[in-house]
Amino acid sequence: MVQIRRQVAVSESLKLNTPGRVPFSVEFMPPRDDAAEQRLWGAAEAFHDLGVSFVSVTYGAGGSTRERTLRVAEQLASKPLTTLVHMTLVEHTEAEIRDLLRTFADLGLTNLLALRGDPPGDPNAEWVQTEGGLLYTDELIKMVREMPECEDFDIGIASFPEGHFRSPDLEADTRFTLQKLRAGAEYSITQMFFDVEHYLRLRDRLAAADREHGAKPVIPGLMPITSLRGVRKQMELASAALPKDVENKLMKAANGDEAANREAIREVGIEISTGMAERLMAEGAPDLHFMTMNNVRATQEVLHNLGMAPAWGPGFGHDMVR
Ligand SMILES: Cc1cc2nc3c(=O)[nH]c(=O)nc-3n(C[C@H](O)[C@H](O)[C@H](O)COP(=O)(O)OP(=O)(O)OC[C@H]3O[C@@H](n4cnc5c(N)ncnc54)[C@H](O)[C@@H]3O)c2cc1C
Repeated sequence: MVQIRRQVAVSESLKLNTPGRVPFSVEFMPPRDDAAEQRLWGAAEAFHDLGVSFVSVTYGAGGSTRERTLRVAEQLASKPLTTLVHMTLVEHTEAEIRDLLRTFADLGLTNLLALRGDPPGDPNAEWVQTEGGLLYTDELIKMVREMPECEDFDIGIASFPEGHFRSPDLEADTRFTLQKLRAGAEYSITQMFFDVEHYLRLRDRLAAADREHGAKPVIPGLMPITSLRGVRKQMELASAALPKDVENKLMKAANGDEAANREAIREVGIEISTGMAERLMAEGAPDLHFMTMNNVRATQEVLHNLGMAPAWGPGFGHDMVR
């Protein structure tokens, strides 16, 4: 077992304010093979040197990356980096969930992003509860809060600037998000979005509905766009739409031939993320959470534009760490 120092709670790290500097964090997916894993360590160390506030590791649909998620999270935490491990309910019984939570606790992985997950294969398919499993994320949070082994856990949740696609309306979405915060989550990280207004409205909705729990930090999830096809796919998976002005800018850069104009699209994508990040910083976002898709260079370029990182160059780890 790798030795992990006691982890700083993500919700505490959000309070460690350095004047003039906005905290940022990065999300990694568990790499597919050993070579990609090695590249990930290079990227993680580079982000460490840039002062990343925390790193998160996703959990594959239906627990498909369970072992890799655990191994990668354990290694990142030992660097030491404040490490947030994602966990979902799909295809797990209550007993399996408890076991997994105990494993996190044994490893010292006390920062948990509690999620329900989507049906493996087709995220938009009907969500079927596993026999003996849990139905909604607030039940997972309550379970964690009742387990003595998990008393140190700091829990985050997902929130949705445009509402979760299964919510009947924004009012219900706000109610369900608050249920998770009241059950014991300390902050939320949003689904990626491309219109800052949606983020601001989510924050206002939550704060207006509950002055205590609704005021907990809402961390914006940012995905630097590097390809039109890629971002469309991501938005489809999230059942969300790309705003017309963003789509138009990218289409203009593509000039009718995406493959030939990849660089131009990428440039516009980085510019869009930089503009969003600047606005979010001005609006007092508690942290900028980059959903890197393991595409390290794009994130670093946005950070560079924000004056928070050197220009991309040799020695900065690796680009695609897949
Ligand atoms: C930052 C972030 C990271 C993510 N990481 C991963 C990952 O690593 N792996 C992965 O598989 N997925 C991940 N996801 C996707 C996430 O699992 C899906 O979006 C999932 O569909 C919703 O999860 P949830 O925890 O918000 O669900 P819940 O909060 O349980 O909500 C699910 C739906 O049920 C509704 N609802 C909630 N409570 C009730 C209730 N009491 N009665 C009726 N309806 C209710 C909600 O409004 C929503 O429509 C991530 C999402 C985000 C935003």
